[in-house]
Amino acid sequence: MDDRPIALRVNANRLRGRFDALAAIGATGNGGVHRPALGAEHLRARRWFLDEARAVGLRTSVDGAGNHSATLPCGPANAPTLLLGSHLDSVRNGGRFDGALGVLAALETLQVVKEADLALKTNLEAIDFTDEEGTHLGFLGSLAFTGAITATDLHHPGGDPHAFQEALANAGLTEKSILGAQRDPSTIAGYLELHIEQGNRLNTSSHDIAVVTSVVGLRRQKITYIGRADHAGTISMNDRRDAGQGAAALIISSRRLVMAEFPDSVVNTGVTRFLPGAMNVVPERAQLTLEFRAPRLRDLKQLGAALKDLAHAEARERELAVEIEEVDGIQPVQMDARVQAAVAAAAERLGLRQKQMTSGAGHDAQVMAKICPAGMIFVPSVDGFSHSAREFTKWEDCMNGANVLLQAAVVGI
Ligand SMILES: [Zn+2]
Repeated sequence: MDDRPIALRVNANRLRGRFDALAAIGATGNGGVHRPALGAEHLRARRWFLDEARAVGLRTSVDGAGNHSATLPCGPANAPTLLLGSHLDSVRNGGRFDGALGVLAALETLQVVKEADLALKTNLEAIDFTDEEGTHLGFLGSLAFTGAITATDLHHPGGDPHAFQEALANAGLTEKSILGAQRDPSTIAGYLELHIEQGNRLNTSSHDIAVVTSVVGLRRQKITYIGRADHAGTISMNDRRDAGQGAAALIISSRRLVMAEFPDSVVNTGVTRFLPGAMNVVPERAQLTLEFRAPRLRDLKQLGAALKDLAHAEARERELAVEIEEVDGIQPVQMDARVQAAVAAAAERLGLRQKQMTSGAGHDAQVMAKICPAGMIFVPSVDGFSHSAREFTKWEDCMNGANVLLQAAVVGI
């Protein structure tokens, strides 16, 4: 093929200038940003994005779900569109890299291709999805884009329903417009997202970049140990049947189990409750939740079964009864093999040290994967900090990620 696209690189100074300008919108003064979805600062960031795109001659549009896009018709007539994107919203007092890097690298990619006047296999679109972080309804933009959202979903947002209605009105969105925002999948060639890892694995490895292979799935088990309430002063240590001991033992042993036998998975207990909940009464009931995540459905099932066995074993050892309730779950999503290969080839051409990695956090790519080939590129997060002002990625790593996105886009998937 023509060698010209292979030699293209993003303009680091221009990208840096935009990064700093965007980070000033909703800046918290300590290096972070506060841009909850559809709030004033978020809407300002979105207007700024469209202004930047227009200023360099890109077409811009906003769909019925508020997704903001810049497009470049660089493919043949009726060619499908390769989407490059992420999100401009943040969690409350979040970091300036999460989402922002991916949107800006997408915009930069379109500008570089436009300036080089390249003809590609696909058209390009830089997209900023609405409410990725779930301030109101997580993945609202990508769910609407893929036709996976219903009126019922909109009536049951994760946050306050009144605040959601007010935010929609402020942004000029309605239930009808959101439900009508679905795009025809036959017009979409794929979706590729550059993002910071938000964990410490890439940072502590000897690699520059990661090809994301999947987004983890999640399950929860609500566990209740049942013993006997007794006077905490009069019953001897030998005679008590303390439900709290079962919960405590399981918290420790579930961690050991995952570390020893499920190295790609994680488990967490973030909620416990002892009943009757008095300092001088031996706990009769102890409730805890095990929340566990794994990259493949098979691992998720095996880990779930192993945790159940463990919960029963801890109960037997302490002569407790145990009840286990499976709560809800999210299926793991595999990233498309061709997109992974395109990202890997781009990183290879750029001479970067790359590894494969599963994403421990949710992203719009997992939603997009239902309608088109989807993939992600991760760059290292220093010390793994994210969703805080301490979030940081070295500029060199940001540039590596942006160049991989550009290279994957110009060669195509
Ligand atoms: Zn993000």
